[in-house]
Amino acid sequence: MKINSICVYCGSSTGRLPDYTSAARKLGEEIGRRGIRLVYGGAGVGLMGEVARAALAAGGQVVGVMPEALFARKLACADGIELRVVKDMHERKATMVELSDGFIALPGGFGTFEEFFEALTWQQLGIHAKPCGLLNIHGYFDELLKFLDYAVAEMFIHKPHYDMILASNEPKELVAKFLDYTPVIMDKAHWVKEMSRR
Ligand code: AMP
Repeated sequence: MKINSICVYCGSSTGRLPDYTSAARKLGEEIGRRGIRLVYGGAGVGLMGEVARAALAAGGQVVGVMPEALFARKLACADGIELRVVKDMHERKATMVELSDGFIALPGGFGTFEEFFEALTWQQLGIHAKPCGLLNIHGYFDELLKFLDYAVAEMFIHKPHYDMILASNEPKELVAKFLDYTPVIMDKAHWVKEMSRR
């Protein structure tokens, strides 16, 4: 699939291990090097700042989408990024989805999880058909994937919806998976109806 723009969700912290920082840099570099535009939360802190600076250094275009409240607290990334200041978190997430052809989560916390799961939820509802992937550095997402697998076994997640998640521990490989991705239109409502007939 043609990918002009990738949205990266990631920690506003750098985490415990230097591996997280180097993976964020590698991902930013890969995105920038390929001439793919990076869309992200706009901050200069944590893995967010690392991915943005690396994409810029590799010659890439970077768009940061920030709600007014965070912008006012001067958390925006420094020079070189195109900053879009939006009203609130809801507008921010909708804007990030609109501007992007796919979504990658690097290690992060609540903010990263909720952004990634929203993009994934919208995919399973057929609101968009853009790839969603996890950059699973140092096994950070192993337990999450295990839990999601359990949710499949317990029949709260439909297996084809679980299988929509692309994952890799290598930035290059994950971006390649995005480029190879064939969009599938999902229809969760259909599955929910089938289940309710059981
Ligand atoms: P967390 O994973 O909880 O650190 O949150 C990071 C995610 O939430 C990022 O992908 C951002 O889009 C958003 N976010 C959280 N904190 C900030 C911040 N200080 N500045 C900009 N965005 C943030």
